[in-house]
Amino acid sequence: MVLKQPRHNGRGSRDLEANPIFSREPVRVPRYALPAREMDPRTAYQMVHDELMLDGNARLNLATFVTTWAEPEARRLMAECAAKNMIDKDEYPQTAELELRCVHMLARLWHAPDPRRTVGCSTTGSSEAAMLGGLALKRRWRHRRRTQGRPADRPNLVMGANVQICWEKFADYFEVEPRYVPLEGDRYHLGADEAVALCDENTIGVVAVLGSTFDGSYEPVAELTARLDELQERTGLDVPVHVDGASGAMIAPFLDPELEWDFRLPRVASINTSGHKYGLVMPGVGWAVWRDAEALPDDLVFDVTYLGGQVPTFALNFSRPGAQVVAQYYNFLRLGFEGYRRVQQTCRDVATRLAGRIADLGPFELVSDGGQAPVFAFRVREEVGGFTVFDVSAALRERGWLVPAYTFPPNRTDLAVLRIVVRNGFGHDLADLLLDDLRRAMPRLRRQPRPCRSAEDAAAFAHGAGTRRPRRGGR
Ligand SMILES: *Cc1c(COP(=O)(O)O)cnc(C)c1O
Repeated sequence: MVLKQPRHNGRGSRDLEANPIFSREPVRVPRYALPAREMDPRTAYQMVHDELMLDGNARLNLATFVTTWAEPEARRLMAECAAKNMIDKDEYPQTAELELRCVHMLARLWHAPDPRRTVGCSTTGSSEAAMLGGLALKRRWRHRRRTQGRPADRPNLVMGANVQICWEKFADYFEVEPRYVPLEGDRYHLGADEAVALCDENTIGVVAVLGSTFDGSYEPVAELTARLDELQERTGLDVPVHVDGASGAMIAPFLDPELEWDFRLPRVASINTSGHKYGLVMPGVGWAVWRDAEALPDDLVFDVTYLGGQVPTFALNFSRPGAQVVAQYYNFLRLGFEGYRRVQQTCRDVATRLAGRIADLGPFELVSDGGQAPVFAFRVREEVGGFTVFDVSAALRERGWLVPAYTFPPNRTDLAVLRIVVRNGFGHDLADLLLDDLRRAMPRLRRQPRPCRSAEDAAAFAHGAGTRRPRRGGR
């Protein structure tokens, strides 16, 4: 985080010691200031490499949704494309072509009515894709209001209190009032009726999440669009839906083909996904796809030069690495539909089996079972007084596992859970090792007279789930 201050004021801080390990010049380099002159590349490499040893082991990080394993061929292609800039359509027309193919593959996968007329783009991740999806909703709403001669200065966006932090950012940065549907009882995400009740003439859209970051559950997209259809019949209000399928949009097409959550529902205007989550690409790439050209207002689209012509672009960034887009295309080619289905099915099998075993241990109760996105959350039973989810998270961390613990958003801030995200590369064997370590920790936790750790001690690695903390100003 760039806002963090150096531990000491830059000048007084200890320098980095190059010697005696390397026995090379320079002897020391400043920690927080640009070194005055060059050094041997081997020394620089080794200093950076050594410092990074302290980072966690990505494969044991069960907090992140982001891909931590890729085939050597994918890595090789990424290295070969390291210099390619996505925006230089003129210089790298084939990279641009591969991006286009990916967009159309996704449009078909998500049942766009006319995939050739679908528009979309790659992004740095779902967060950028969410900004673009939200901006398109806002701009469409504004055009509609102006055409009607009505005020267009108080837009709002309806979503569950469980949305990923990117939607709070969108609302804050682009000045849209966020309207959160609170969780109630064992409804851990958006409710269709509750969402519709918050809609009015200033609602630019409703966000539905396929694969909630808090528990992996799918929000009821089809029920939501049906309730919004009724709202339109009753009141004339025509409220579009954006599906945040950061994880679920790359799971449901393969494992839940009957589930209608995508462009089969006419009210779904746009969908985003993270190519670097269940798209199986190393970070960072995301995708945003609009149902058709009407869903993405022209005036948001800028032109860049392309082979002497102009090509439309919609993005927040200008320069952006092309390697991840190439790796996405590689994965699509390499795995095909059946390959993705097998990878995702294995993740779901590992998640549901591990969830079941954890439930069998006794002190835990499942909040979700990994049967939607391969992600599940579990709590410590109420009658257990001696330890909390935060103690469990700390105990697992002693063995290198990162399993985040956090409390749910309103109105379930009373509910504290642990969450496990199962990704490609976390197979049954690793799951068994985790289970063994959890089992081994139980006697000690059971002997505790009272909890040692609370939400305040929890490490900040809940990945977009977890408590909202506006740093300045707040809401
Ligand atoms: C991860 C996630 C995001 C943010 O995606 P990035 O690709 O990390 O920017 C948004 N929404 C949901 C539901 C997510 O799981």
